[in-house]
Amino acid sequence: MTTDDRPPAPGTTVTEADLPYLRRCVELAAEAVAAGDWPFGSVLVGVDGTVLAEDRNRESSTGDPTRHPEFELARWAALHLAPEERASATVYTSGEHCPMCAAAHGWVGLGRIVYASSARQARDWKAEWGVTATSPLSPLTVQEVVPGLPVAGPVPELAERVKGLQWRFRNPEVSEAD
Ligand SMILES: [Zn+2]
Repeated sequence: MTTDDRPPAPGTTVTEADLPYLRRCVELAAEAVAAGDWPFGSVLVGVDGTVLAEDRNRESSTGDPTRHPEFELARWAALHLAPEERASATVYTSGEHCPMCAAAHGWVGLGRIVYASSARQARDWKAEWGVTATSPLSPLTVQEVVPGLPVAGPVPELAERVKGLQWRFRNPEVSEAD
């Protein structure tokens, strides 16, 4: 995290209005873990606050490592929304977009991203737990993949819940992380 003297750019801070959507993302992440999938969930919200689509990770249940919810929402938006509707929509997600999903988000022209937990936090948790498996992708941030996109997050209390779900997914023999 960095700080400087400039005021935050529009859309780059998490507001009270964002929290219900982020909580829904964490619920979807919990549903994913219950189904044996990685704990990630995402919600696509229109400019009027309407939930347009939602999904959760389905990598393990489909055997397809590209079945990230953010990628699914980008495809859904490409099929169902006009370009201006995509640009004014917000994607909420339990964990910051990976470079694949950030690229899909950028290609279909979706708007703001708000995440509950950051990719950096996820890397820190893996280090804390001694997980050595690495991603096949470079750890590019959303802003590096899609320059100029407003991005907000993380939210500490929700990030802790995501951390608990990650731990539970990695330790399925233990019934509850918290
Ligand atoms: Zn992804």
